[in-house]
Amino acid sequence: MSEKIIFVSTEVNPFAKVGGLADVAGALPKAIYNLGAEVYVFMPYYGDIQAKSKELNIEPANISGIPIDLGAEIETFELYRSNLPDTSISIYFIRSEKYFDRMGVYLDPKTKKAFSDTAERLIFFSRAVIEAVSALKIKPDILHVNDHHTALLPMYLKKLPNIHYNWRNTKSLLTIHNLAYQGVFPRSIIDTIGLGHSLFYPEGPFEFYGDVNFLKIGIIFADAVNTVSEKYSQEIQTAEFGSKLDGVLKVNSGKLFGIINGADYNEWDPRTDSFIQHNYSAEDLSGKVKMKEVLIENEFKLPFNQNLPVVGMISRMAAQKGYDILSQAIPDIMKLDIQFTILGSGQPKYERMMLDAARMYPDKMGVFIGFNNKLAHIIEAGADMFLMPSRFEPCGLNQMYSMRYGTIPVARRTGGIADSVIDVTQKPIVGTGFLFNDYTSDKLYDTIVRAVSAYQDSKKWKKIMLRAMGEDFSWDVSARKYLELYKKIINNRI
Ligand code: ADP
Repeated sequence: MSEKIIFVSTEVNPFAKVGGLADVAGALPKAIYNLGAEVYVFMPYYGDIQAKSKELNIEPANISGIPIDLGAEIETFELYRSNLPDTSISIYFIRSEKYFDRMGVYLDPKTKKAFSDTAERLIFFSRAVIEAVSALKIKPDILHVNDHHTALLPMYLKKLPNIHYNWRNTKSLLTIHNLAYQGVFPRSIIDTIGLGHSLFYPEGPFEFYGDVNFLKIGIIFADAVNTVSEKYSQEIQTAEFGSKLDGVLKVNSGKLFGIINGADYNEWDPRTDSFIQHNYSAEDLSGKVKMKEVLIENEFKLPFNQNLPVVGMISRMAAQKGYDILSQAIPDIMKLDIQFTILGSGQPKYERMMLDAARMYPDKMGVFIGFNNKLAHIIEAGADMFLMPSRFEPCGLNQMYSMRYGTIPVARRTGGIADSVIDVTQKPIVGTGFLFNDYTSDKLYDTIVRAVSAYQDSKKWKKIMLRAMGEDFSWDVSARKYLELYKKIINNRI
């Protein structure tokens, strides 16, 4: 039997991307499909996607005018479709003039703040997915939802009156890509959710410190829950990483799993990467030095010296990513013989901190504020080391991409980093990176020093590079684990 999977996400690469969720949503359905499952992907039809509809081959799916009851109003949606690039997997887009005919995935591009109707958008989208699947006459085995945005769906599956009979045997899986974002909204949102107030009582599914928490609802109602690494699935059951949901997660630990993300080597491989000017491989590394020159001279306009190790960093500029300890460590880091290139955007205070540092160290530090996928690829290719001083990291993709590019991770041992990088100092024969445990600027600095001193021994460094490049985090392995988990859920073996 081939399992029928409905995969729902508010970001899917290359249609709309904010962070790692898009990478996963763009790649995992393909990998599952390649193992024989039947997969359908659903996402909102944002203005940003509408603007690129031609190049993305998006067309109307001839389903429109289906009403969604949101309590105070009824809104209709229209369905569009395309394929995930280079596949025959259908991706469906929910169009709504009211909720999605505008630019921005989560944030209003003008104010850089979350849309004031965020909760309504998510409720509308979730309900519309249920109706769209019914209208398409698909009979799903698994409804796979991602993060708080779509976490209401498992509850709708169990509680929505008059749900189409095609959903009768469907089971649900909620994947948590980042527990820090939970979708917490005022209690009044219950009227829009539309199932009455009976689920709101102290410590009940709807109640979260007086508010409503979409992720909590998903955790409670999903048939199974997983995080994007094994380590993170354990970490989030502690007060330190649990973001106030550790109690709920512990109670539900019997259905909580960890499956590490894969890396999409169709997009992230220096041998074939179409964003970089000089491709290279473990057999011929000459292109990497050329990319270092491109990165340093062309992209960041810094003086190029082939022998200086270059540290790269690409991330959302959020507290999670370690910018507080990084900014404390920068004066010391800048005394080392290195250059540092950073690409990111996010919280204005971190953007300012990094821009100030670039002004103070004009020959050593380059900062680009913004979202730039091409530059991300050039940094992966041109840097010698990749910095990830994250406070927590549910999976982290860049450390995996970096290894494939021979760009050695210098990172904090947390979540998916702990599950994918081996410390060179502790395990010199098999090590693939440099890790630290304590979240302090001193440890971060010490670890950069360790990496820089290893870099001085070029023979040793090359060995580390080749080991890292030989690691295989392809999606196939992770997709097999997802398929196993789907089967477990379908057969009630949780
Ligand atoms: P998160 O999902 O927490 O942002 P991940 O490491 O899982 O972190 O995934 C981040 C993804 O987003 C990677 O593909 C990374 O290259 C990309 N990315 C993050 N910031 C930027 C940026 N400013 N420009 C281009 N790509 C970015």
